[in-house]
Amino acid sequence: MSVPGLLIVISGPSGTGKGTICKSLFQRRPDIFFSVSATTRPPRDGEVEGVHYHFKDRTTFEAMLARDEFLEWALVYGNYYGTPRRPVMDALAAGKDVLLEIDVQGALKVKEKAPEGVYIFIVPPSLDILRKRITGRGTDTATVIEKRMGEALSELAHMPEYDYVVVNDVVAEAVDRVLSIIIAEKCRSHRFRLVSDSGPDGPLVEAK
Ligand code: 5GP
Repeated sequence: MSVPGLLIVISGPSGTGKGTICKSLFQRRPDIFFSVSATTRPPRDGEVEGVHYHFKDRTTFEAMLARDEFLEWALVYGNYYGTPRRPVMDALAAGKDVLLEIDVQGALKVKEKAPEGVYIFIVPPSLDILRKRITGRGTDTATVIEKRMGEALSELAHMPEYDYVVVNDVVAEAVDRVLSIIIAEKCRSHRFRLVSDSGPDGPLVEAK
């Protein structure tokens, strides 16, 4: 029987730079299965169907919802986003570590179902930087930016519900911290059992 992989959930308010952290993680740990979400938001320049997202129209997304195909889903700024359940469960069952990069509402829903996962909260170094990142995204009006700032601040209040916090000041350092968390998490004693019958040369412990 294969050992189930570790479910890693990276989350935080939008504008914290979690997407950038995940891109860099992907380069450094290509063995991790990165879940590709479905969304009803239109593709941005350079985004590729099936790589960045599975782009769906509303009717198709709602049909997937009705068939209970998502591990979690959320409405983020008027668009649906959801984690397709099957690929995640298959990868975990095959012993792969799986990473979800999702918003705060979605992360808390997954935590209810899978508390054995590791939940990492990414925070921006300051309010000024958060505002710059939210503003820098496009051509949003001042009202929209204020609304997003308000939402980001109320999402920050969920920090204590996560296992780990990473401040995204210098991206490379934030990525190092996330990688360290993943390594430490895989070394937790509850993930191992002693082996009594593997002989003098055999391993003393095995992963549960
Ligand atoms: P963006 O449109 O900028 O790619 O993503 C907007 C927000 O939706 C980000 O906070 C991102 O983490 C979140 N998100 C992306 N995919 C999912 C998903 O499958 N489920 C949930 N709950 N949030 C998601």
